[in-house]
Amino acid sequence: MKRIVVLGAGESGTGAAILAKSKGMDVFVSDMGTISPVYQALLDQHQIAWESGKHTPEFILNADEVIKSPGIPLTAPLVKQLIEQGTPILSEIEFAARFTRAKMICITGSNGKTTTTSLIFDMLRRAGLDVGLAGNIGNSLALQVAQADHAYYVIELSSFQLDNCYDFKADIAILLNITPDHLDRYDHQFQNYVDAKFRITRNQTSKDAFIYWSEDPVLNREIARIQPQATLYPFGSNEQNVAYTDGSHLVVASKPDVAPLRVPLDELSLKGKHNQLNSMAAGVAAQILNIHNDVIRESLQQFAGVDHRLQYVATIRGVRYINDSKATNVNSCWYALESMTTPTLLILGGTDKGNDYSEIDALVQEKCHTLIFMGKDNSKLIQHFGAMGMKYISTDNLQDAVQAAYQSANEGDTVLLSPCCASFDLFKNYEDRGEQFMQAVRTL
Ligand code: ADP
Repeated sequence: MKRIVVLGAGESGTGAAILAKSKGMDVFVSDMGTISPVYQALLDQHQIAWESGKHTPEFILNADEVIKSPGIPLTAPLVKQLIEQGTPILSEIEFAARFTRAKMICITGSNGKTTTTSLIFDMLRRAGLDVGLAGNIGNSLALQVAQADHAYYVIELSSFQLDNCYDFKADIAILLNITPDHLDRYDHQFQNYVDAKFRITRNQTSKDAFIYWSEDPVLNREIARIQPQATLYPFGSNEQNVAYTDGSHLVVASKPDVAPLRVPLDELSLKGKHNQLNSMAAGVAAQILNIHNDVIRESLQQFAGVDHRLQYVATIRGVRYINDSKATNVNSCWYALESMTTPTLLILGGTDKGNDYSEIDALVQEKCHTLIFMGKDNSKLIQHFGAMGMKYISTDNLQDAVQAAYQSANEGDTVLLSPCCASFDLFKNYEDRGEQFMQAVRTL
């Protein structure tokens, strides 16, 4: 009997274990941390052996294959030992895909993954297709394949999930953009991160589609170098692309035999230039899947957006409050600032992942009159923006940050939480940061 060991019992690990068990394999789950009670109960219910708070080598090193949670780095000692002895290490996506014939629509990029994935899912659902949402969002692919397989999956893939994909193939792959992120996991070598992202094109043939932003210099350089086999569908700001904006409309023309879809820019439900790009990518994917232009248009006009991404919170004394807690890197804050149409007070700070703030200097000067730093250690922010002569207020908790914004805002301003940083210094995660922000605003 094939022995599968699952390292990490989160959503993907638990799902993979249940799928392996349902296929009659000998399964063992090991997690160095604590396993949440929900997943413990699920594993017990499926009679799957597990351990938490430790990795017992003799239960793990005898695996035929190991399914590793994307959160565990390849440099973890036990993982290194497995690699050295030649045990195959797979991602949950790679494993799950062996057991389904569904069409895979996969989305990766440094920013915009969740928004684009959710928008495509919305389009496929509106079109009446049998579709599941997987990857970083919703239930794991493996659990869905085990319990209620679908005809289509829309999958958000991080570079960590792609790291351990080998035979997996995306029927439609989308690469939105590549900017430096997570370099701590890639030996501080940007190219390693780029290579991981491009694994989304692996195994694709000319029958498959590769949708990408044609104005991203890193993407262009890599496409010229790698020459992906898939049919290319570039989107961007002019008519040389299959999807573009013409000043007043978003145009999607990815099929010669289908009339182009034209949607007025001011009718798009997702605001900001970055969301025009996400909307183009989603529109192209939907057209490739033969979804009617009317359905795509309706989705682009009505999609409700995703929480913590430029999410409107409230207007208090004429000041708008926006929650963009998901902006955990400098580039996503750039796009948030770019979409601001009023004088702005920017709340930023947190766990710095080696940020270069100069990327937002020009927009900060153009759009902001006050910066509010919110973090355990604001010294890097003070040094950078203080030198610019910008008014700033340094705080070390959310209540003080929101109060400082409230006191400094004028009628007609926007207070934008778009932190450029991870949240772990003061919060459980970015969702917790966003929830606490919205709660603090609502009680002003
Ligand atoms: P991800 O899942 O890749 O982290 P999200 O869809 O959750 O991306 O968006 C995170 C943040 O990134 C948003 O709040 C927004 O500020 C920014 N963003 C979204 N789409 C893009 C894009 N296409 N290019 C650059 N930044 C973007």
